Amino acid sequence: MNYLTEKAKKLTPYVAGLQPRDPGWIKLNTNENPYPPSPKVTEALANADFNSLRLYPDGDSGGLSGAIAKTFGVGKENVFCGNSSDEVLALAYQAFLSGKDNVLTPDISYGFYPVWNEMYDVSAKILPLDDNYAINADDYRDGNGVIFANPNAPTGMALTLAEIERITRNNPNGAVIIDEAYMDFAQVENAVSLTKKYENLLIARTFSKSHSLAGLRVGFAVGSKALIGGLQRMKDAFNSYPLDMLAQIGAKAAILDVEYWNMTRNKIIATRNKTTEELRKLGYTVLDSHANFLFMRAENAKKFYEHLAANKVLVRYWDKPRINGFLRVTVGTDAEMEGFLQCVKRF
Ligand SMILES: *Cc1c(COP(=O)(O)O)cnc(C)c1O
Repeated sequence: MNYLTEKAKKLTPYVAGLQPRDPGWIKLNTNENPYPPSPKVTEALANADFNSLRLYPDGDSGGLSGAIAKTFGVGKENVFCGNSSDEVLALAYQAFLSGKDNVLTPDISYGFYPVWNEMYDVSAKILPLDDNYAINADDYRDGNGVIFANPNAPTGMALTLAEIERITRNNPNGAVIIDEAYMDFAQVENAVSLTKKYENLLIARTFSKSHSLAGLRVGFAVGSKALIGGLQRMKDAFNSYPLDMLAQIGAKAAILDVEYWNMTRNKIIATRNKTTEELRKLGYTVLDSHANFLFMRAENAKKFYEHLAANKVLVRYWDKPRINGFLRVTVGTDAEMEGFLQCVKRF
């Protein structure tokens, strides 16, 4: 292991949820969408010009950026596409947070942020969620940067647009990076509109959850020309062609099929609300979810997790302070949630 740099030796890599390859699981552990991608995606990929694969793809994902820009009512120059939102966020770290101190971030949020804080030498100021597991917007001021997910993960709780605006305004000297991976399932408004008013606000999005394309690896960011330019700088210092040709075609077809996106996300929201109600009837505390997962309090959470896994129901459990009394359960189909609930009742 002497080949590793000091930094590589010291790093604590992100641990993703399990991806079992054997059949028969009710898989509720990584917030994938239970429904297939839009049929328009299948069609667009089937009709792709495979001969073009010999050429490098469009490094700026122009067609896809244009479709995203139109969807959100922003300019094409306000959109940046990457090979997953994890990559977009890592580039945002490199461009805007690397080496800085006093970067404000919650104690409980997406598990990748602490990894990047270490990787990019960020001295984060960790701000605890309040007793109800919510982010307190007033804690976030005068930072050299801000990063958290809204809706937050793994709690599913969301801040309002007014709170996001307050945080953006109160941190004028740093990039405010809001990871909206789950926003399409929320009851609050997304913050894209604010990017026209605040040069320091960057919104990160993914096709992995609400567009059923976790396997295609596509993410994007919306923000001012200044911030998008920063991301492009880092991209061209790392990988000039982050999105392959097929990913660009598939993601574009997905975002243009608004009807299918609406139908599937509304189904997930309905199933989420129904499952929340049933769990509460059984006496469980479930946080108000604005996402495609539930965060439920469970006594003996680790045993509970193991009981579910033994019955081929896979959820997520973290043996970490403050959240080790909870399970995070992805919202699947109605049938999958029925299977999950039956297993819960047997515990
Ligand atoms: C799933 C998730 C991502 C990663 O999305 P990818 O595009 O699949 O990399 C980013 N942030 C949060 C909060 C997520 O839950």
